[in-house]
Parts: sequence; structure tokens; C-alpha cells
Amino acid sequence: MRYKSTRNSNLRLEASQVIAQGISREGGLFVPESLPNVAEKLVAWSQLGYQELAQEIFSLFLTDFTPAEIESCVKKAYAPEKFGGEAVKLRPFTKNGNRCLLELWHGPTCAFKDMALQILPHFLTISLEKTGKGRKAVILTATSGDTGKAALAGFKDVPGTQVIVFYPQNGVSPMQKRQMATQAGGNVAVCAIDGNFDDAQAAVKRIFTDPAMNAALEKGGMLFSSANSINWGRLLPQIVYYFYAYFRLCKEGTLSLGEPMNVAVPTGNFGNILAAYYAKSMGLPIRKFLCASNANRVLTDFIRTGVYDRRREFFATISPSMDILVSSNLERLLYGLSGQDSGTLAGWMEELAQNGWYDVGEEVRQKVQAQFYGGFCDDAATARTIAETWRTEGYLCDTHTAVALDVYRQYVEETGDGGTPTVIASTASPYKFAADVLGALEPVSCVDEFQNIARLEELTGTQAPAQLAGLKDKPIRFQDMVAKDQAAAYVLAGLNLGGA
Ligand SMILES: *Cc1c(COP(=O)(O)O)cnc(C)c1O
Repeated sequence: MRYKSTRNSNLRLEASQVIAQGISREGGLFVPESLPNVAEKLVAWSQLGYQELAQEIFSLFLTDFTPAEIESCVKKAYAPEKFGGEAVKLRPFTKNGNRCLLELWHGPTCAFKDMALQILPHFLTISLEKTGKGRKAVILTATSGDTGKAALAGFKDVPGTQVIVFYPQNGVSPMQKRQMATQAGGNVAVCAIDGNFDDAQAAVKRIFTDPAMNAALEKGGMLFSSANSINWGRLLPQIVYYFYAYFRLCKEGTLSLGEPMNVAVPTGNFGNILAAYYAKSMGLPIRKFLCASNANRVLTDFIRTGVYDRRREFFATISPSMDILVSSNLERLLYGLSGQDSGTLAGWMEELAQNGWYDVGEEVRQKVQAQFYGGFCDDAATARTIAETWRTEGYLCDTHTAVALDVYRQYVEETGDGGTPTVIASTASPYKFAADVLGALEPVSCVDEFQNIARLEELTGTQAPAQLAGLKDKPIRFQDMVAKDQAAAYVLAGLNLGGA
């Protein structure tokens, strides 16, 4: 298996090279040159446990890794003690449609990002051994809240790596901020950006592709890598759980092998839902992808019109990990749907950068609509959904998961497709967003997140994950903030490479 860039089809790189490098030099994203068809393997795979299934899938994509290397990555990342048993959990709902939740947040930082970021450091360490010539990897990360903490937890004290996380000053929940600010480890740094997530992501992308920055790092014996979902090593682990969920539904008798399911995903950077799309492209029977957005509905509008237009107001919502106007991974989908035409893709991305919008045209729009349903809901509907789900199902969901639940409801109402079993990705613990989840159930006046956690526990009889409740006693280590054009200088200073 070799990899190309969405903006340069002439590249043919090994998996270890694309994981070590993160993003292609001309700004494109790495994609597999073709996806393996596994339709013949579904029967055998349906019997595997999570770790075995992950090994099977990874071995198709990481063809320059040895089987022993892949096995060791999987064993370390998905050890039962890290995830409280099986890595993911399926939670059937009994009312309102044929749906179940796929809980992806039982890892160390209580968000689905752990599924990828617990294993990426192991992939990266091996990739660097193969390609890095002994250089140290600087993991530069822009976060809308959850990636940052998951990257910090995954890479903490991993030899040969250094992690720098940028987050939007007013764009993450108090608990997300505290999780990052209290991070332990000798190789980590956390800094706020005076802007929103798109500003943070753009600053990081600029640094990655800046020749002067790359030269400075090389001189210091380092290289940049990425823990964002622009890194192929982030997407690959996410393919596994869609297969796994499907097989679980087969085991329970909800589906017979070969029958289709739908997938609904609360979406920000389009990484999680793209992994589901790749699973389908490999032969997993999926009928429709429900792409759920909050008030930042740029993807909903794109799916409905074929025009991607980021020129709009940015909303800070109660589902902050989806507050994004430039969804990076859409580029990978469009590359595939436009017949792997890197010239066209480079053109659209240039238009987006220069003018703020692009139009994919009739043919690609139809291809998108054939597979994707786009929907959105605002904060009020999110809160209503949390309350209603609690009332009717006795289930407490977080603000992001609630967005997907509401979009699923809209989808069934609009299309009448209530019969297809639907897996709804549940992406975070409700206790990560305790104030807003509690606020959906009763009026909240208190600003202390730990008091809100205690009240939520008392009100619902559920229990906060120890990883979150325990933060109360940890000292704050990081309080830096920089302007968005100062991010590069902050990185150089942090790496002792002087001001540029
Ligand atoms: C990151 C995140 C999302 C969005 O996932 P993408 O892969 O960026 O689309 C949704 N929910 C939560 C809780 C997240 O942390």
C-alpha cells in the first residue's frame, strides 16, 4: 500500500513516511492510492475481538510495518485497563427508531479521540525508526478541545517526541481547558491562541508548510509531525470501530451479515465520518452517512448545495469540539469523489483559501448526496435532546452526541427511513461538558465545574469518570496565550531554537 497527496498524485510514499510527516509539503493530505476490498473477509472478521480486528485492518494499510510491530502497537494502545474493558461499547436504545449508540469515550481522556491518539504515538515511534534518521518529532496540534488533551495523554513522556498544543482561548469547555492545563510530562506544552479553532488550525498548518520553520527544525535535529486528523495515523484507527459495531449488530441479530446499516456522526473536522466512509469503500455495508453539525452548519449547507462557503458568522456553541468552519478532511472525500484529480482539488482548496468558498459542481454534488445526509441543530435543540434522551431512555449523553441524535431524528422524519439500523457515534462523556449537560436538565447558576459534576451525579445517579473528577487536585501548569501570528515564534522559543 502506497500513499499519494490530495494535491500531488505523483507521490508514492510508504505508511511510515506519511505518518511521520503528517501533511504533504504542498499542503495536501495523504490518502491511500486505493482501498483494499475486504468483502470476502467479513464472515471471518465478524468473529474477532477488537484488538484482533484492529490488527487485521492495520496490516492492510501499514504494509511497511511487520506483523509483530502492529501487534505490539495494538496491545499497548487498547489494553483493557486503559479503556475499562473492551475499547468501545454499544448501547442499544429501545424507543424512537432502530438506533444504538457506539460509545467511543471510555479511554483515558473521555473523548473518542483516545481511540486514535492512544495508538498514534506507537505508530509514530516505529515510523520514525524507519524514516526519521534519529530526529525528534515535534507534534504540533491545533485543538477544538478534545484532540489536545488526547494527544498530550498519548504522547506524554514518549521518547523522541515533543508535543505543543494550541487551543482557542474562548473555544473550549472549562473541563477541557483544565484537562490540558494540568497535563503532566516533561515533553509537553499547552498554549491558548487569541482566536477561534480555525485560527489555531490555520496557524498550525502555516507552520507545518513554512520552509523556514522546517529548515530551523532540521538544523536542530527535529521534524514536525501532526496529531490532528490530517495525519493518516489518526484516521486509520477509526475505521476499525465501524466494522466492529457492524459485527456486534450481526451477533445480536439486529442485522444479518450483508444487510446495510446507517451511521450518524457528530462532525467537526470530518475525520470520524470519513473513517466510516473508508470502511464502506472497503466493503462494509453502510447505506447512509448522517453528517451532524451544530450551528456552524457549513457542512450541512455543503451537502445540500455543493457549495462550500466558510464566509459566515462563527458560533461558539455548547458542542465546542464541532465549532469548525474549515473541515480539513472533506478534502480527502472530494479527492476520491472527483476521480483522484489532484489538480481539481488543489484548485478548490486555493479558492477556499483566497475567496472563502468553492463549488464542486453538479456531478460531485450528486455523488456526495447519494451517500451523505447533512443536518444540523442549534444549542436549544441540543439541550432539548439531552433532556428528552434522559427522560425517555434514562441515558445521559453529552452535547456532541446529542447533536447526532437530533439529526438522526430529523433524518427519519424527512426520509421515513426509521427501519435501517443506525449506529450513532457517541463521542464524549457527558461529564466533560457537565455545566451544559446539567443545564439541559435544570437551571444552573454555578460556574465551578466540579460542583456541577457533583450535582449531575446526584441528579442522575450516574458517576463521573475518575479521570475527570480527579483533576480537581492537580496543579495548573500552563497558562500561556499568544496572538495567532505569534504561534511560530512560540514554537521556536519552546524548542530552544531562538526567535526566527
Ligand atoms: C473531535 C470531536 C468531534 C468531531 O470529530 P471530527 O473527526 O473532527 O469530525 C465530535 N465530538 C467530539 C466530542 C469531539 O471531540
